[in-house]
Amino acid sequence: MAKHAAAARPRLSAHLVIAGVAAGAAVSALQLDVPEPAPQVNAGVGLAANLSGLGGDDVAPTLLLTRAPTHDEVGQLKKSMRMTEQREAEAEARRKAAYEAEQARKIKVFAPTTGTITSNYGPRWGTTHYGLDIANRIGTPIRSTMDGVVLEAGPASGFGLWIRVRHTDGTTAIYGHINSYSVREGQRVSAGQVIAEMGNRGISTGSHLHFELWDQAGRKLDPLAWLQGRGVQLG
Ligand SMILES: [Zn+2]
Repeated sequence: MAKHAAAARPRLSAHLVIAGVAAGAAVSALQLDVPEPAPQVNAGVGLAANLSGLGGDDVAPTLLLTRAPTHDEVGQLKKSMRMTEQREAEAEARRKAAYEAEQARKIKVFAPTTGTITSNYGPRWGTTHYGLDIANRIGTPIRSTMDGVVLEAGPASGFGLWIRVRHTDGTTAIYGHINSYSVREGQRVSAGQVIAEMGNRGISTGSHLHFELWDQAGRKLDPLAWLQGRGVQLG
C-alpha cells in the first residue's frame, strides 16, 4: 500500500514539520512521523494531491513536495488533525464509559431470601413501609445481597433482631425480624453468603424477612426496584 499524506494518522500532528521552505526553493519536505497507514483523512486536499504516489513501504516518512504548502493548506491539515484528536478523545471516553458499565454489571447481587412477597415499599396502613417483606417458614436462609461489612447484628426495636450490612457500593441493607444470625459486627460478608435465618421476632405478624436498602445518605430506597434493576428475581 502506498504511504502518502492522505493515509497519515493525523493524531501525530505534534510530529508535523514543514521544512526547507527557503525563498525560491523548489522543494520542501513535509515530515510525518507515521507508524502505519490509516484509511482516511479528509482535509489538506491540495497537499495530499501533491503528495500522493510518493513513497512506498520502504520509504522513510519524509515526503517531498514540489512546492511549498500554502498557508491555507497547512491550516486545513492542522484543523483536520485537531478534529481527529477530538474524535479520538470522544471514542476513548465512550470506551471508558462502556468499561465502567461492564464493571458495574459484574457486581454480584443476590436475592436476600426466597419466599412470597407479602408487602412492598410504599404506603401501608396510613404510614410508609420502607421495606420489602418476603414470607417463608422460620429458619429459611437469609443471604447478604452484596459484598460488604456487617455494621450491626443484634436486637433492634420493632425488628426483634436485625443485621445491617454496609455494601461495597456504599448502600446499606437491613435484615429485620430474623430468628438468628451467624455473623458479627465488623465481619466481611460476600454476596450470597448466609448470614441469618428468617424469623418472627419483634413487631411481626408471621415469619418473614423485612428487607430495607439505604443509600449512602441514609435515604430508604425501594428494595424491590433496586434488586430488579440488578437482574435479581425473587420467588
Ligand atoms: Zn416489613
